[in-house]
Amino acid sequence: MDYQVGILGGGPGGYVCALRAAQLGLSVVLIEGGRLGGTCLNRGCIPTKALVKSADLYREMEHAEEFGLFIGEKRVNYGAVVARKDNIVNALVGGVEKLMKAANIRVIKGWGEFKEVGQISVTTENGVELIQVENVILATGSVPIRIPIPGADLPGVGTSDEFLEETELPKRLVVIGGGVIGLEFASIYKAFGVQVSVVEMLPTLLPTIDEEIPKRLTPLLKRSGIEIFTKTAVKEIRQEGETLIVQVEDGKGIRDIPADRVLLSTGRRPSLRGIDVQKLGLETDKGVIKVNAQMQTNLPHVYAIGDLIGGIMLAHVASAEGIVAVEHIAGRSVEMKYDAIPSAIFTHPEIATVGYTEQELKASGNIYRVSKFPFSANGKALALGESIGLVKILADHEGVIVGASIMGPQASSLISELVLAIEKRLRAEDVARTVHAHPTLPEAVMEAAHGIDGKPLHLA
Ligand code: FAD
Repeated sequence: MDYQVGILGGGPGGYVCALRAAQLGLSVVLIEGGRLGGTCLNRGCIPTKALVKSADLYREMEHAEEFGLFIGEKRVNYGAVVARKDNIVNALVGGVEKLMKAANIRVIKGWGEFKEVGQISVTTENGVELIQVENVILATGSVPIRIPIPGADLPGVGTSDEFLEETELPKRLVVIGGGVIGLEFASIYKAFGVQVSVVEMLPTLLPTIDEEIPKRLTPLLKRSGIEIFTKTAVKEIRQEGETLIVQVEDGKGIRDIPADRVLLSTGRRPSLRGIDVQKLGLETDKGVIKVNAQMQTNLPHVYAIGDLIGGIMLAHVASAEGIVAVEHIAGRSVEMKYDAIPSAIFTHPEIATVGYTEQELKASGNIYRVSKFPFSANGKALALGESIGLVKILADHEGVIVGASIMGPQASSLISELVLAIEKRLRAEDVARTVHAHPTLPEAVMEAAHGIDGKPLHLA
């Protein structure tokens, strides 16, 4: 055997898993055909958040006068916005490369093929290399789905992959799909003054989260100038001169929405690139590789993690699954649990959720308690000029926190306290009685927690 662990794919699943394997003293090889960091670092989490920051700053500049500031003419140089994003991405990819080197992890740049248990072949610049590995961890991630509608392959129509390469802003953008990725792009482009329309087939945006959040978010997005069409299906995209026409149909009939660019954000599917599922005899469920709580497939010494296995397609989930897989290989007693997985949506305002939604608790028939605290009653939020939104906490009949949703400033960071609470099965009272610094946004979390057993203090 050349290595104890061979990992196929160097995204946040694969590379984190390689680092943990090295920490545990296992010999490890990581095979990556593209760039280290995978989708998250190169085409996902990080580049979009770099754009979100520029968009937020630009939006704030519009309100400068409310803060007593006068900044004259404001203008976007989108090329420079994108260059900043690229610098951040490159620095982080370089950082991951350094981490690999420091941990003595061999990284092979090339596309791997896994057809036989115990070995991976890699096509590199120098030819094909055959590597013998004791354990294989499959972490090949996911790719965007291009929905099969007429015109989906026209120039100007693209997925998030292509949009992150764009260096100019269009005048009009149509986003197909009102999920997380679609709404993040819609918020970014709107902030830069692009005319944005979002088309969603389902009756609501963000259909998987607590219903109250999209109900509150949708009017805010509309107020910001984003056109939103729910319960609306896209029939076709066609080109008329320089313009793309997105033809949609809702309950009332057919209409045309003109656009200069069309973003397809209709989900992602696992990438089985290089994995011969059939030959290997890998068990699948609806095309997705099946794993147990230790991330083992049905084949001995073969594990699968991250977007590849569907489920919650998020970077931190991929990393957590990778750590479980490699710790199991090292002989530790571990299990992947999904009860306290945070999920963040970087719209304006930001959204973050964890655990059960209110509709799930309602449907379960169990008694539950709910408490909400608005940011309009939080001093720090007012000082920031970001007082829209709320913290919502759900608890069981004993007051144990089982779910939470936050919409508002820094929601993605604020959720961590409630993730820990759910992970450790804390009661709302435990959070409420914890002293929080003043004036801070986490006080809104504390106040909402007070409301589970009684009443928030700063709410009439
Ligand atoms: P990936 O990151 O997809 O990595 C897989 C890697 O495997 C790729 O680098 C690929 O080149 C390589 N590979 C594939 N096949 C082979 C092969 N045969 N040989 C060698 N290498 C191979 N998640 C969040 O948590 N927060 C966010 O804010 C967020 N924002 C996102 C924004 C966008 C626009 C997108 C598209 C995604 C976003 N995600 C976000 C999701 C996140 O990027 C993924 O969940 C995460 O990257 C999955 O990690 P992974 O390691 O499973 O797969």
